[in-house]
Amino acid sequence: MRLLLAVLIAGLACSGQEYDLVLRGGHVIDAKNGIDAVRDVALKGNVIAAVAEKIDAAKAKRVVDAKGLYVTPGLIDIHTHVYTGTGEPHSYAGDNSVYPDGFTFRVGVTTVVDAGGSGWRNFPDFQERVIRRSKTRVLSMLNIVGNGMRGGKFENNQDDMDAEATAKVALANKGVVVGIKTAHYSGPEWTPVERAVAAGTKASIPVMVDFGTNHPDTRPLVDLLTKKLRPGDIYTHMYSGLRNELLDNGQPNAGMIEGRKRGVIFDVGHGGGSFVYKVAIPLTKAGFWPDSISTDLHIGSMNAGMKDQLNVMSKFLNLGMPLKQVIAASTWNPAREIKQETLGNLSVGAPADIAVLRLEKGNFGFTDHSGMRMKGNQKLTCEITFRDGVAVYDLNGLTKDDWKQ
Ligand SMILES: [Zn+2]
Repeated sequence: MRLLLAVLIAGLACSGQEYDLVLRGGHVIDAKNGIDAVRDVALKGNVIAAVAEKIDAAKAKRVVDAKGLYVTPGLIDIHTHVYTGTGEPHSYAGDNSVYPDGFTFRVGVTTVVDAGGSGWRNFPDFQERVIRRSKTRVLSMLNIVGNGMRGGKFENNQDDMDAEATAKVALANKGVVVGIKTAHYSGPEWTPVERAVAAGTKASIPVMVDFGTNHPDTRPLVDLLTKKLRPGDIYTHMYSGLRNELLDNGQPNAGMIEGRKRGVIFDVGHGGGSFVYKVAIPLTKAGFWPDSISTDLHIGSMNAGMKDQLNVMSKFLNLGMPLKQVIAASTWNPAREIKQETLGNLSVGAPADIAVLRLEKGNFGFTDHSGMRMKGNQKLTCEITFRDGVAVYDLNGLTKDDWKQ
C-alpha cells in the first residue's frame, strides 16, 4: 500500500507539472471571451494553456498569487511614435519618437503600433532599426507619404502620396503593417485621405486619420466621417476639439454620431495636444466613449498630461468609463481594429501576453493639454507584464523566490 502511494506520488510529480506558471485568484477581464470574474490563468511556453475557476497548483512549476489584482490581456497601444534612432531632429521618423521598450512593459503594454512614422520608402529602415530589435511587439501603420512623418515639407507633398507603392509594401509585410496613416496635412484638399483609403482598400487594412489643419469649408469633419472613410477606418484624436468634434452648443458633431453608426472607429490618440477636458467631458457625458484608448506616445506627450497608457486609461476610469470597458478599449477592441485577433485576449493557445494590474485607491490628479487638472480617486498601476510567457516586468518580484538567509 505504502509502495503504491509512493509510486502514485512519484507519478504525479513527473507528469503533474503541465504548466510553467499559474496566476492564481486574479480578477480576469477578457472581453473576447466575456470573462469578468476571478479566475486562475495557466501559462505554458509562450501561450495561454488554461483559464478556469480553479487550476490545480500541483500542476504548475510556479504559482503566483494574483489575489486582489486584475489579470488582462497585454495592452495594445495603436497610436505611438517609435521610429527613432535615425538622428533626424524635429521628426517622427527621428528624434521626436522614442524606443518602445522603455515605455511599454512597465505599464502592461505588450504591443504598439507606430502610427505613420515611416512610409513605404523608409519602412525597411524602421523595420531594421526598431521593429526587429525591440522586445515589445511593434507593428506599423504606413504613412501615405512615402517619406513618412519627417516634417511639413514632406508631409504636405502630394506627389509623395502613392497609394500603389504604399499598398505594395503593406501587402509584402502582412501582419506587421496593419494600417495606413494620414496625418498633419495642412492643405484644403482631400488627396491624402483619398490616397490613404485607396491604399487601405488595396491592402485590406484600415486607415487611421489625423485630420491635420481644420478646413471646415473645404473638407469638413462630417464629410470625412460620413462619406470619405470606410467602416473600420479609425478617427484618432477624437477629444482634441481641433476639428469641431464638439459643437459650440456642447453637443457632439453630427458627423461623429453618424460616423459611429456607419462603423467608423473612434480612437483617443491623447498626445501632447489632442486631449482637453472641455471637449472630452461633454462628449463622454453625451455617451461618446472611445472604441480604443491610445497614447500618441512621443517626446512631447510622454512627460506631459499623457504620461503612459495606464495614465490615459485611468483618466477614462475617473471620467466614469467602467473598468471592463476601459480594459476592452485597450486590448480586444484595438486588436480587432487592426485585424490582429490572435492578440488582445486570453484564449487558450493565444500568445501569453498578459498585464497584471493593480487598481489603486487614493487622491490622484490628471492633467490635459490646456493645463487643467482633474482630481480622481482611482489609478491603474502595473505589477507584472508577460510577453510571450516571459515576465518582462515585475514591479514587486511576485514571480520570484523570496530571499532567505
Ligand atoms: Zn501621432
